[in-house]
Amino acid sequence: MTARHLQRVIPSMPTSDGAGVKLRRSIGAQRGLYLDPFLMLDEFGTDNPGDYIAGFPAHPHRGFETVTYMLDGRMQHRDHLGNVGDLGPGGVQWMTAGRGVIHSEMPLQESGRMRGFQLWINLPAAEKMKPAGYRDIPAAEIPEVALPGGGTVKVIAGTVGEVSGPVNGLGNRLPTDPLYLDIELRAGARFEQAIAAGHNAFVYAYEGSLSIGEGAAAKAIPTQAAGVLTPGDTVTLTAGPNGLRAVLIAGKPIGEPVVQYGPFVMNTREEIEQAIRDYNDGTLAKAA
Ligand code: FE
Repeated sequence: MTARHLQRVIPSMPTSDGAGVKLRRSIGAQRGLYLDPFLMLDEFGTDNPGDYIAGFPAHPHRGFETVTYMLDGRMQHRDHLGNVGDLGPGGVQWMTAGRGVIHSEMPLQESGRMRGFQLWINLPAAEKMKPAGYRDIPAAEIPEVALPGGGTVKVIAGTVGEVSGPVNGLGNRLPTDPLYLDIELRAGARFEQAIAAGHNAFVYAYEGSLSIGEGAAAKAIPTQAAGVLTPGDTVTLTAGPNGLRAVLIAGKPIGEPVVQYGPFVMNTREEIEQAIRDYNDGTLAKAA
């Protein structure tokens, strides 16, 4: 077994997207700051409705997957295929944009806390133009593993021990083979997780504090920053004195060129120009 350690820290930057939703972006905060296959990680979290009330009105996507994980609050997704999905606390929406989706993501509340993550996962060239797909996964369908040292792990994608998440479990692997865990640890508790060798991985603490690795090589990372891990096949996370809440995300790199223009992520400039033409003439969202 080769332990993974901290390779580098990608701090999150305050930014806004949609119609002015305030958020913090780490992966993807700057052009080229990808961690193949992950294009972007946004954390949104606020008690102030003014920071989220305008939501994300209708906009397109092509060429990748968007994964929205709600911690607090309610959002509603609507898309051109007629899907309507309400996303509540602890729920996940896993959307495969494929050749094209036009959707909106709007708050279903006018007050209170809104908090969660949106992760963008790239698709390989062979899958970028497949038909769009969409899954709403309520909190009750996300298994929770109790840890011996105190704490829990919610398995959104991938496998922890014998427990598989609703996405990318045993027997239904996605092309990027993602692992997506939400980890809660008591002060000083440890969590060790297997991560396939060759996959890229990062951890993002959103509450409390965290150190990555063991013994002399253990390194603390700040909250609200992505800690990219070195290669290996296992990682140990240890909570600081105030406990920890963090997401651990890993996936198989695609190794293809990435050309991004806003919500379109393709392999070449020509494909981006085609996506813009298809959006403008209304064919992006039509069946192939
Ligand atoms: Fe979107």
